[in-house]
Amino acid sequence: MDSQEFRQAGKRMVDYVADYWDELRTGQRRPLPPVKPGYLNELMPEAPTKPDGWDRIFQDLEPMIMNGNTNWHHPHFFAYFPTACSYPAIAADILSGGISAVGFTWKSCPSMTELEMSTLDWLVDLLGLPQHFKNAAEGPGCGIIQSTASDATLIAIFAARATAVEKIKVFPSFFERVASSKVGETIKTLLSKVRQNTVEEETNECAALPYYHDPTVFEKFVAYCSDQAHSSVEKGAMLAGIRLRKLTSSLDEQLGNYALTKETLEKAIKEDRAKGLIPFMLIATVGTTSTCGVDHLEEIGPVCNKEGIWLHVDAAYAGSFLICPEFHYLAKGMEFVDSYNFNAHKCLMMNFDCSPMWFKNGAHIVKYFNVDPLYLKHEHQATASDYRHFQVALGRRFRSLKIWFVLRSLGVARLQEYLRGLDKLAGVFAELIQKDEDFELFVPKHLGLVCFRMKDKNNEENEKLCNALNDDGRIHLVPSKVHGSYFLRLSICSQFTKEEDIHFAHKVIKEIKEKEIDSL
Ligand SMILES: *Cc1c(COP(=O)(O)O)cnc(C)c1O
Repeated sequence: MDSQEFRQAGKRMVDYVADYWDELRTGQRRPLPPVKPGYLNELMPEAPTKPDGWDRIFQDLEPMIMNGNTNWHHPHFFAYFPTACSYPAIAADILSGGISAVGFTWKSCPSMTELEMSTLDWLVDLLGLPQHFKNAAEGPGCGIIQSTASDATLIAIFAARATAVEKIKVFPSFFERVASSKVGETIKTLLSKVRQNTVEEETNECAALPYYHDPTVFEKFVAYCSDQAHSSVEKGAMLAGIRLRKLTSSLDEQLGNYALTKETLEKAIKEDRAKGLIPFMLIATVGTTSTCGVDHLEEIGPVCNKEGIWLHVDAAYAGSFLICPEFHYLAKGMEFVDSYNFNAHKCLMMNFDCSPMWFKNGAHIVKYFNVDPLYLKHEHQATASDYRHFQVALGRRFRSLKIWFVLRSLGVARLQEYLRGLDKLAGVFAELIQKDEDFELFVPKHLGLVCFRMKDKNNEENEKLCNALNDDGRIHLVPSKVHGSYFLRLSICSQFTKEEDIHFAHKVIKEIKEKEIDSL
């Protein structure tokens, strides 16, 4: 393909995508594709030995790819949480792919680094986050775009772990404070095992383990989250070799939803210290995946700060809503937070992947993540930001173009209108459920999510309903379970969903219930 052919093929591809969006409501597509595992293998030809014409490739798109695509933006797709998208975001990805730069250091693509720094500062203002998170602020705060919330959590765990190891090894005052306690004994034992010279950078090639990643020190560490935290928290802790204790959530007064309380946290810290464990981190959730519950930061934040525990906040879904002033209660207590993350690719009208993350103090992280081969060095590294020090991968995409294009092209008002729309439509569905004598809400509607179940029916019956709905295929939703109770989740996902689609979903749910449950 030469540049002339690319112009044609590219325009054709843009038209194809625009048609897909235009026809999502009126066309033949359903939320779930009609395929079974292995469907593609049966359609795949032998590996090509000579090039195919673009026409031929295009012809295969519909039967092979689109027919096996789950249509996340279909107005009747209500599963998981939204994955956002918009035309300016797609345009940004075209440009990112088009220039194909890899921005691991400032030098490797200055505009990629600097646009990321600036757009994340924009978001700090637009979302009403603490000013100390800004890249341009005087202090050590900083922001970076990660790929996913899972990545951000893993990075936060590594950063918190290294910070705590360093505190124990390097700052005797910290040690003295706890010396007479059970934790003090643990630390004394741990330190006796640690080689004396490890505070100095090791030079021996086969023992190049920096002192702040010393596993003999974090052996007794314990991290906390609520039992409602996303599975990525468990995965991150597991991979970081860290003990994770999931604390039982309880219904809160503000939202009537599941949250971690201050008392539960304080009790766990006390118990674990008495056992000689070292609590070092809490991963709180603002907008849990099951029910959109909120761990109230203004309540648990001060406990973390007082006890010297790193507070990371996973606001993957709910974080976008901060762009509307009326949802600002979600960010109460944000000043206590050490690291914060949300997925702009969930509902800020930017497609996957774009997961902004901020640190109150990013100064040490550069050290904890630093490896410095000659081929990555450059003359500006003392003064410019090298984002490779805040992630696992070296290479990185030009994700900030999405933020730049979307904020400029759509504007804040459009984003607010979209998010308010999600919440309003969820309200319409919640009202239908409340008025329906066969159903009940599991927790009050929160943001764009409604959790509901059949009244006076057990878990098995509710599960049967959920399976039957997805087999029927006109709407798609997924279930969850909290403290043993099974329920269905209806999440407003598509920007094309309208009030009539909510009534349609309710009608389908009623119909399937009558057919599959009442007939038993
Ligand atoms: C969606 C979600 C995640 C996982 O997001 P990824 O970006 O896919 O890793 C984590 N936490 C919460 C609360 C979520 O809703």
